[in-house]
Amino acid sequence: MAKEELECSFCGRKKPETNLLIAGLDAHICDRCIEQAHGIVVEESKQEGTKELSSELMLRKPKAIKEFLDSYVIGQEYSKKVLSVAVYNHYKRLLQPEDENEIEIQKSNIVMVGQTGTGKTLMAKTIAKMLNVPLAIVDATVLTEAGYVGEDVESILTRLLQAADYNLEKAQQGIVFIDEIDKIARKGDNPSITRDVSGEGVQQALLKLLEGTTVNVPPKGGRKHPDQKFIEVDTSNILFIAGGAFDGIDRNITKRLNMQAVGYSASKTEDTIEKDNLLKYIIPKDLKDFGLIPEIIGRLPVLTYMNPLDEETLRLILTEPKNALVKQYTKLFGMDDIEFEITNGALDYIVTKAVEYKLGARGLRSLCEAILTDAMFELPESGTTELKVTKSYAEKALQKSTIKKLKAVS
Ligand code: ADP
Repeated sequence: MAKEELECSFCGRKKPETNLLIAGLDAHICDRCIEQAHGIVVEESKQEGTKELSSELMLRKPKAIKEFLDSYVIGQEYSKKVLSVAVYNHYKRLLQPEDENEIEIQKSNIVMVGQTGTGKTLMAKTIAKMLNVPLAIVDATVLTEAGYVGEDVESILTRLLQAADYNLEKAQQGIVFIDEIDKIARKGDNPSITRDVSGEGVQQALLKLLEGTTVNVPPKGGRKHPDQKFIEVDTSNILFIAGGAFDGIDRNITKRLNMQAVGYSASKTEDTIEKDNLLKYIIPKDLKDFGLIPEIIGRLPVLTYMNPLDEETLRLILTEPKNALVKQYTKLFGMDDIEFEITNGALDYIVTKAVEYKLGARGLRSLCEAILTDAMFELPESGTTELKVTKSYAEKALQKSTIKKLKAVS
């Protein structure tokens, strides 16, 4: 066949009319048709992705979401309920057909207030696991206003893209957990005295992400790769969960509650206030008084609190969750054919120490590690087939370890 006669088998263009003509077994395809075909493939896989997500998501109603949370997170009943509803509504909104110009469902971004180590990150992780969506965990303290030392807020989306293996569709339906949101509170009542680049400035920058916008995101992040191509990320379907300890916010709450008591007539006395868990009474105004700007509070409409973990809860955390520490150690030793057993006395002792050292739930892991390191080092090659950890074993092991140095860490 003469060269001039070759043509695209799809559109019929002659070879000279194309930039490129690729030969197959029995046919040819030109560059334009390749591009078009590629477009169709991308479009199709996008729809597939959404369909996949829809079918998975619609299966779970709020009660089922809470049940899933129950198997990983101990206690925190109120927060689990609030989160289940917020997540359900968020993805309901996401699955709603676009054309309806009727009622627009707003985003249900969440803010969780509670001491460190009470399970805020765990909640976000568990939700992401359940939905099988990518999750980015970012620390608000590293964020600064664009142009200052630190990371721009766009870096949050870089993380999400990375968590989604650069699948844009998936990233756009993912979850972002912003930790330590309290650390970007406005520094004082008059921000103009010194430039507040890591406080109000960051809050302002976060606003647009939270409400939903298209952002140009450097896929490799940061300023180290100035020549990279930006990826456009639409944040309108990304669920943002913010968490923070808000140290000292209880003072604002007490003040407000006392003021209310004065303001209202005595007959209006509500149930007695639980003084050791004032977060229970938190309202958006308290966040504002703490230094979050009203616009940010408005974009985080779901507010919930985490209870401090008491001994009973810590004890349950050791054994109950699906991936509880005791279960994990049993599995680890089991892989070396060692039967692992830990007595109630030893578990109670670990809890007491976690409380004493003020380490919270996070400390449980460090304590277990300290107690078991020697055994995990010695036993695998020793031919031993069982390990029983009693209270006195735990005491001795802990005395040898350096864990006391952890005391100051919160
Ligand atoms: P936060 O984000 O509130 O600082 P994390 O979620 O990071 O706390 O908690 C630290 C660790 O403590 C978790 O990985 C988990 O193992 C454990 N933990 C904390 N709270 C709970 C809880 N309510 N139920 C089960 N485990 C918990």
